Amino acid sequence: MAVSLFQIFSVGIGPSSSHTVGPMRAAYQFISDIENNGRLNEVANIRVELFGSLAMTGEGHKTDIAVLLGLEGERPSECDPAAVEHRVNFIISNCTINLLNKRMISFHKETDLLFHKGRRLPYHSNAMRFKAFDEHGAELYKQIFYSVGGGFILDHEQIFASGNDPEEAQVPYPFTSCEELLAHCRHEGKTISEIMLENEKTWRTEVQIRSGILHIWKVMQAAVKRGCETQGILPGGLGIKRRAYDLLRKLEHTPNDHSSVFDWVSLFALAVNEENAAGGRIVTAPTNGASGVIPAVVHYYMKFCDRANDDGVVDFFLTAAAIGVLYKEGASFSAAEMGCQGEVGVACSMAAAGLAAALGATNGQIENAAEIGMEHNLGLTCDPIAGLVQVPCIERNTMGALKAINACRLAMHGDGEHRVSLDQVIKAMYQTGLDMKYEYKETSEGGLALYVPVNVPEC
Ligand code: SF4
Repeated sequence: MAVSLFQIFSVGIGPSSSHTVGPMRAAYQFISDIENNGRLNEVANIRVELFGSLAMTGEGHKTDIAVLLGLEGERPSECDPAAVEHRVNFIISNCTINLLNKRMISFHKETDLLFHKGRRLPYHSNAMRFKAFDEHGAELYKQIFYSVGGGFILDHEQIFASGNDPEEAQVPYPFTSCEELLAHCRHEGKTISEIMLENEKTWRTEVQIRSGILHIWKVMQAAVKRGCETQGILPGGLGIKRRAYDLLRKLEHTPNDHSSVFDWVSLFALAVNEENAAGGRIVTAPTNGASGVIPAVVHYYMKFCDRANDDGVVDFFLTAAAIGVLYKEGASFSAAEMGCQGEVGVACSMAAAGLAAALGATNGQIENAAEIGMEHNLGLTCDPIAGLVQVPCIERNTMGALKAINACRLAMHGDGEHRVSLDQVIKAMYQTGLDMKYEYKETSEGGLALYVPVNVPEC
């Protein structure tokens, strides 16, 4: 499957791409399929079942809310975060749901939306089964979806038809490994960003690609701004205080020196991830949990690097997306499969490569930056306390961003020659993810989630 930059970077709402954005898309697709078959008016009851990691941490990740909104016709890119609470309260207290905003049926969250904790479906840990029934209780339609990371979803048919779709887009420079990507670069005399741009032209004009990238950058900047302007305690019951607000005020009264660079980068990441944790609007980069790393590094580029400009930002995103494609093809963004290597690890690798490209690195240096960015995240587990995308997630993005800058700097001090290739590190990451115990893959049954006592009130 050819993957576009605009699939890797998509505007959504928090707190999770696999547990919020993906399920909302799945619910929307399910109900839209019924409507497209002309049967929406026959639907009298909907049943949704969540399995695996979606069942274990779905409440903390707002999977239930995402499903309800998706059934009502919401999509992550358009959903108004400010209206979510009111709409969901209405559905729950009135025991009704308005399918696609066109058909009102009764819906009892306790019996119609089930969390099957401890049960998994075979293909992937993030599975959802949707069923629709008519007024006599006869099944009208059912579908199983998998949320495979970064907001991407697959249904059963797509899994088994994979690779056989004649309508699938053919990009001019297909690649599934860095070796293939660099071979295209050598053959055409182009940078990684130029190759990615040519591939993106499969779907959009160059003008649209550039303005789309700058729009994504704008949404990221807005997330930083909102994060820096908002005070208080994050939702969910852990009692985590937002820190970006105070940190910004402190930095504004601190002279800019070398050490303050660290604090600024941390601030940018904190701001985005606090917005994400609060269910605000962010960009998957490549996931929600890791959505602060790339904005923080692009902000670093714009604030601290000489001659930074929009052309550099465009190169940054095209290159980061090309590296993201390699992880999508060779491993996964899904924490339920790869642990946090697949989220913050991948974001760090993408950001390191993107920054190197924006600073004019050679293709060899860019590959090296991406490789270093992942090499030192190998084995990173996913163990969010109480299933909330807060601890360790928010701080972890600051670490990912700073590590990405260091990876870029290390690579650019070299000449592009390096011992471990990006392809090798992606293979190592994938195998490490497969070997990682289930408890450390977004189930909140291991690591910090096991050892840090919580007293989250039922709500
Ligand atoms: S620990 Fe990492 S992978 Fe897990 S939810 Fe947090 S950010 Fe995502």
